Amino acid sequence: MVSASFSTEDKAIGYVAEFCIVCRTLRPFDIISHVPTTHIAFICVDKGKVTHTAVCDGCGMEIDVDSSNYITTLDMYDPPMDKLIATTFPNVEEVYADRLAVEDKLVNGLPLSDRERLELIQEPFDAFGSVFQSTAEYRRADGPVILSGVMAFAAPLMIILFALAKVEEYDTVRRIFIPLASAVGVLGFVLFVCFATTAKMRWIRKHVLPLVYRSLAPLNPSRIEIREALQSFIAAGTKIANKLDPDTVFNGIQAERMRPRL
Ligand SMILES: [Zn+2]
Repeated sequence: MVSASFSTEDKAIGYVAEFCIVCRTLRPFDIISHVPTTHIAFICVDKGKVTHTAVCDGCGMEIDVDSSNYITTLDMYDPPMDKLIATTFPNVEEVYADRLAVEDKLVNGLPLSDRERLELIQEPFDAFGSVFQSTAEYRRADGPVILSGVMAFAAPLMIILFALAKVEEYDTVRRIFIPLASAVGVLGFVLFVCFATTAKMRWIRKHVLPLVYRSLAPLNPSRIEIREALQSFIAAGTKIANKLDPDTVFNGIQAERMRPRL
């Protein structure tokens, strides 16, 4: 039987200069190309439209980018920013002039307008909106999902095979090992369902919220401002935002503010 498989080929192709909303400045971003491919019998028969993302060298935030915004990419380790700007995105400071002016005010302790402050507080939630909305992360099995899956589906079989191989009396197998295997399987399945349905939130807590906290730390938003930002995020249709507790976000930002800067 000939089988078809679909995957994406990801390849790092070099650095560009780009603005990072988490680092709040211009940073080197590593451009990654993504090529959807179709294989039949292990032979590549089709390649889809190439897309690009960029990963910030400073914080690890990943954004979708249009590669035509950049003249080229620079393939060197730890590229100096002035060289990177001149080579890849010479007018980046012009493109982000308004934004860099707001960041200047923030760094120098100058007052922001209500609108500027509101937009800055809302920004990381909007920037990560596609991640919050995406269903792809549901399919990403993390440690708890894998372990509970093994407990649900492999452990019972291993217990029974072990008993059949090592225990001579079948009655003992029937009375002790089969109920034990069933109990382990049922418990494993319950845990598997729990962990699988909470996998996305776990992923968001681990990979997304730390970046949101880092981005918002310089603004030191109040609990009310965070509540309002989350409410507008929910109003925009991001259902998973319902599961974000404003107090948890507030405490996360305060903890980030206390963290020593390297
Ligand atoms: Zn960054």
